[in-house]
Amino acid sequence: MPIDTLLKPDPYRSGLSFVKRVYAPRVIGLGGGFFCVASVLMTQPVVYWVWGLLFINGFIWPHLAYRWAIRSPQPFGAEIRNLMVDALFGGAWVAMMGFNALPSAIIISMMGMNNIAAGGKNLFFKALGLQVLGGLVVSLIARQPLNIATTPMQVYICLPMLMIYPISLGLVTYRTARHLAEHKKKLFSISVLDGLAGINNRRYWEHLLHNEYDRCIRYRHTATLVLIDIDHFKSINDTYGHSVGDEAILMLTDELRLSLRMVDVIGRYGGDEFGVILPDTHIDQAYLVVQRLREKISAQRLKNAPDLVLRISAGIAEYQPSMEGYQEWLKAADIALYRAKKAGRNRTERA
Ligand code: GH3
Ligand code: MG
Repeated sequence: MPIDTLLKPDPYRSGLSFVKRVYAPRVIGLGGGFFCVASVLMTQPVVYWVWGLLFINGFIWPHLAYRWAIRSPQPFGAEIRNLMVDALFGGAWVAMMGFNALPSAIIISMMGMNNIAAGGKNLFFKALGLQVLGGLVVSLIARQPLNIATTPMQVYICLPMLMIYPISLGLVTYRTARHLAEHKKKLFSISVLDGLAGINNRRYWEHLLHNEYDRCIRYRHTATLVLIDIDHFKSINDTYGHSVGDEAILMLTDELRLSLRMVDVIGRYGGDEFGVILPDTHIDQAYLVVQRLREKISAQRLKNAPDLVLRISAGIAEYQPSMEGYQEWLKAADIALYRAKKAGRNRTERA
């Protein structure tokens, strides 16, 4: 999924996906509802066009509603309107059945479940109001006699609906939750990872450095911080082009990943600058690690610039209990890096 789609709220697209989510449960709910209502209407004197209306509501309306909403410039609003139409009809059928107990309870509870899932309490109560309105209007016009007792036959006809609808709605809810969880995971990686190198970005790496600093204070541990900067990176970009510059960054990233331990924390600190936290490591050990890394990197060749020898400078600083904050630690490493650059590059300096 492109970053734009993840970051920008797009009411049109999310409206469309809402319409698609509601489609299957409506087809199942209204199709099953047809049989529940029909099982009661069969036992009552009903004019023929009511049967026609029931058929349209059960089998044609779900598809019409879908097309209507999907083609609307505001699919979300259109779908809410469709849910309100559902509610109005739901109430009307309850009254038409003379409030027959089981089918009425099924219609009201299934619609309630759907509306709560789709729009929370607000939508639930709005739809409930429309169900009451639909029921009242039909009660006044049709004046069906009360027919509360549900026969065993009607119970059997209603059972499939009672079982299938909640399962289908549960499936839709589960899929939505999973989709959201994936979305959250993607957003998290976008917010913490560097777009090019795929390692921690500066903000997140500093956050991890802060954590390490706190850990050192609390448990009287030590750790060493390394800042690495590629030498003459600008002239690499100028001589070989920006894509070779990128390749160099990726090569350095790969080397860092391969040569360091799992517990070491790598981050892209700036354009050609990297930060590494080495937990439980004294400065002498860190010095050796960085020397080894520098040798490995200068022995590597880039595919698109085989004659280029990449060199790096590094500043290293061990955690000191006297430091006032992690920024002071960072500053110490930065000063050491500056000294390495000043002293001619391609070297490691200690704070
Ligand atoms: P020094 O030896 O003193 O470090 O000199 P330098 O030329 O490396 O200078 P500096 O570290 O300031 O240069 C950073 C350059 O990195 C500037 C910028 O154009 C380039 N840069 C920053 N981000 C990227 C990137 O993602 N890809 C590429 N190819 N270049 C980048
Ligand atoms: Mg540089």
